[in-house]
Formats: sequence, structure tokens, C-alpha cells
Amino acid sequence: MSKVVVGIDLGGTNIKTALVSTEKKVLSKNSRPSNADKGPDAVMDAMAEAVEDLMKETGTARADVLACGIGAPGPMNWQTGVVYSPPNLPGWENVPLAQLMYQRLSIPCFVDNDANVACYGEYWLGAGQGTQSMAVFTLGTGVGGGIVVFGELLRGIDGTAAELGHLKVQRDGRRCGCGGLGCLEAYASVTGMVRTAQEHLDENPDSLLYKQFHDQPDNITGKDLTDAANKGDAFACWVHEETATWLGLGIASLINLQNPERIVLCGGMIAAGDLLFDPVRRVARENAFPVPAKRCEIVPAGLGSDSGVIGAAGCAWTRLESGEDGGADPNSAY
Ligand SMILES: [Zn+2]
Repeated sequence: MSKVVVGIDLGGTNIKTALVSTEKKVLSKNSRPSNADKGPDAVMDAMAEAVEDLMKETGTARADVLACGIGAPGPMNWQTGVVYSPPNLPGWENVPLAQLMYQRLSIPCFVDNDANVACYGEYWLGAGQGTQSMAVFTLGTGVGGGIVVFGELLRGIDGTAAELGHLKVQRDGRRCGCGGLGCLEAYASVTGMVRTAQEHLDENPDSLLYKQFHDQPDNITGKDLTDAANKGDAFACWVHEETATWLGLGIASLINLQNPERIVLCGGMIAAGDLLFDPVRRVARENAFPVPAKRCEIVPAGLGSDSGVIGAAGCAWTRLESGEDGGADPNSAY
């Protein structure tokens, strides 16, 4: 029996789990509700159960599971595996997640930031394969980021690096979820895109969106905007162009900073396809220096919505190989 690593993508709504062989094949995966409202113990029990189920289903012995990686929402200390107080996990307060999962599973457990593991997944098995230097933007309710330089995640001295959603793109701009003003996330997330549509809806009474939503602009979703743009609605196309412009400006700054080979866009928003990618590529090219702009490809995720769960497994494996104990020492969290 070949050895395997487990990846877990811990979100506020769902827990995704995958078993990945050391030959980098995804052997099996599953998804279940995280029941986040029941607090940390219930969530950790559900994660442990999901791992046990995968092992049973694939006939994998515990001794063949080398490590378990968990991509969790920050803020956290990735080295000690302590998760501080993520906004979408109610009741979590300095939870020593790596240690507590080690106690449940008797398998070395490694915790990393969810956007970083998504980046590592794309680097390891997705659209970033074969590069040495790449970055990921996850475009959903917020904007997450991860950077790989010379084959390793860029973590920063406190482990907080690569918060690409909080690049400042506008002085005194929109209020961001982080409390700051003018962050990329406030413009280039799905939430930011919807807000752009809401702010300009009344100026566009001829648009499909106005007809559909002028009484209830709060109901507009990212999918509504993309659907309307695909039907040729000029206002919806403009909203995509505007959103892509903000994102392209953020990407141009990253290209000048990092000189990456590839930038991978993940998350729900990439369903917009060329409506998003064409203007993003154009704006990034126009605003970055020519040499790194020419070098850098901007591409969609290769692993769909599995970047995080596969990357969590990849991160755990890498950290195990570098000699970390994965929560085996109960004192290491404190
Ligand atoms: Zn921010």
C-alpha cells in the first residue's frame, strides 16, 4: 500500500476532505457541512470523522497516512497551529487546532492559512505546475492571496504575508471588511462587484439589471451580473470591465513586485471567463513594466474548487518532510 496524505479545507459552511497519494493522485474526496454554529469541538469532530470515513472507504490503514493538512481561515499562527478568532467560525478563540486534531487522529497535523493552501495546491498540482514563482488570487466573497517564490510559500516573518486582497488601490476608497479603506477586496471581490452594480444601477434604467432589480438591489448576485453580461447587457459588461480594471491594477503591482511566471485566478468569480480575463490581462499589461508583464501569464485555476483541499495535503507533506512534528508535542502550541 502506498503512503497517503490527507487534506482538509475548513470553511464556515463546508468541510472538504481529500486523500492524496505520494504519487500526487487524488484517491478520494468528500464534503460535509461544517456545522460551525456548534463551536470548535463539533467542527473538529466532524473533520476527524471525515478523515476516518475516507480511510475506511479507500481501505487505508492509519500507519499509511503520513500527515494531515488543514487549510483554515485566519488569523492564525501557522507554525504552532493555533487559530485565533476567524470571523466565520463562531466561538473559536486561540484554538490549538494542530494539537487537538493530532489527539483525535494520531496523525501529524499541520495548519495553514486557507488562501496559502489554495496557492500551494495550484503550484503543486494545478495551473501553477512547473513554475518556480507564481501567485494566486482567490476571488469570492473576499479576495485571498498566496505567493510562491522559488518553490516555497512566501510567509513573512509573522506568517501574515501575501494578503493580496488588502493591497491598497485607492486613497480614501471604499471601506473594506478588514476595517481599512481602499483595499483591492472592496472592489475586486464578488461583493465589491455587486456593490459597483448597486451604486450605478439608477444611472442605467435601460439595463436588464435595472428592470430586474431596481426595487430590490440587495438581491443582486455575482451570477446575476455575469448572466446579464452574457446576454449582452451593456451595463453588466461595464460592471465586469470596472471590476477587472481594479483587479488588473492590483495584479500589475504584484507583477512589478514579484516578477512571477504565472498568476492564477481562483474562486467563484472566474466563472465569468473572458468577460473578466480579457480586461484583467489588458490592464495588468498596460500598468506593469514590459519585461515582467510579458513574462507573466494570467490563467484560471486548474483544480476548480479543490485548490484548497489538495494544497492542504501538499503543504502538510512538505512540512512533514522538513521535520516538523505536526502537533505531536502538546506543549508546542503555547
Ligand atoms: Zn482590507
